Amino acid sequence: MKAKKPEQNRQNILLVDDKESNLLTMEALLESSDYGIIKADSGPKALKQLLENDYVFLIILDVQMPVIDGFETAKLIRKREKNRYIPIIFVSAEKIEEKDIFHGYALGAFDYLTKPINPEILKSKVNVFLSLYQFKQDLGTAYEQLQQEIVVRRKAEEKVLAMNEELELRITERTKSLKKSNERLQEFAYVASHDLQEPLRMVINYMQLLEKKYKKNLDETADQYIHFAVDGAKRMQKLIQGLLALSRIDSRGEPFEAVDCDETVGQVLKQLKTKISESKASIKYKYLPSVVADRMQLGQLFQNIIENALKYRSNKKPQISVSAESKKHEWLFSITDNGIGIDPIQTKQIFAIFKRLHSKKSYPGTGIGLAICDRIIERHGGKIWVESNPNEGSTFFFTIPKTNESA
Ligand code: ADP
Repeated sequence: MKAKKPEQNRQNILLVDDKESNLLTMEALLESSDYGIIKADSGPKALKQLLENDYVFLIILDVQMPVIDGFETAKLIRKREKNRYIPIIFVSAEKIEEKDIFHGYALGAFDYLTKPINPEILKSKVNVFLSLYQFKQDLGTAYEQLQQEIVVRRKAEEKVLAMNEELELRITERTKSLKKSNERLQEFAYVASHDLQEPLRMVINYMQLLEKKYKKNLDETADQYIHFAVDGAKRMQKLIQGLLALSRIDSRGEPFEAVDCDETVGQVLKQLKTKISESKASIKYKYLPSVVADRMQLGQLFQNIIENALKYRSNKKPQISVSAESKKHEWLFSITDNGIGIDPIQTKQIFAIFKRLHSKKSYPGTGIGLAICDRIIERHGGKIWVESNPNEGSTFFFTIPKTNESA
């Protein structure tokens, strides 16, 4: 079988010897399908072959050549960056001194053989260098694949980052426009409820005048109609006042300041004096803390919850207690009553505007009080909720962060 022809893109051995017969013997010895063989009969030709062939994994170099000997050729080969690491096996008729080899070309692997060449030793040395070369090639491929993978991942990451940025931008824009439309809505609610009050007041006044002046002159049905009209208009007035109060929480709130809750609850109880004595309620509160809040709004919050505790009382004598617990980052307030209680499935709904669980006949009201509490607590960065069961009373909880700054 003939030695494989050298091929581009295929691993080759470069044989360098000035004697054609030596080249042929070596070629015959190294015959293999695993690699191709390139030959050169002088140092300069060896360099030319290396220029034309990229995949030389081993050079077998005769030391005794005329003009430029093997060591000189090796020096020239090593000068080129591309060839610096191609292993060289020096072949010599004389024993090679190690110092000759080390001198000047200590880069890259090298080995040596003395003539006459032992075919088995030659083949085993070639195989070692071939395995080394293939191992390097495989490593290179794996490295390239890794590089490609890294590029693909980096591109994907960049894409995700760009998408994230765009998303964030859109969210910021959307939040801005939502904030703006929210502010406009609040302003609208404020203006509408404020301006509606005046004509409504006129309706109520004239209806009441009508009632006063013509009560006995009209028939009973007409009297009743007038009464309904006045009653409806008054309810509407309350609703509008509630809406106005709700719309004022964010837009017309006062700056936060240190508020003594003991004092605030005391003032609220003074305002509710009549209702408390009518219902014979006992209300306990002690050692309430000072918190950073909107003074008026905090008063309104306590008032709405305590007023409800009085309103939604059962047939037992009302017992109400207000207390506060210090948590790591906030104060946890609780207001407990022994009233009619609430079905647990409805405890979330009652904080929604206009949500009422009873008819206005059994308990008058507008369904705005707790929505106001909810908005006040939201403005203060806290939470509000209720735990209750029918006939077992209710406990309203709310939190006020300890770190509130001036709003
Ligand atoms: P209003 O009292 O004007 O109806 P609120 O917003 O203050 O409106 O309360 C909403 C509803 O929550 C009430 O209609 C009532 O059904 C329920 N509720 C509020 N507080 C209590 C309470 N302490 N005990 C039982 N039910 C309550």
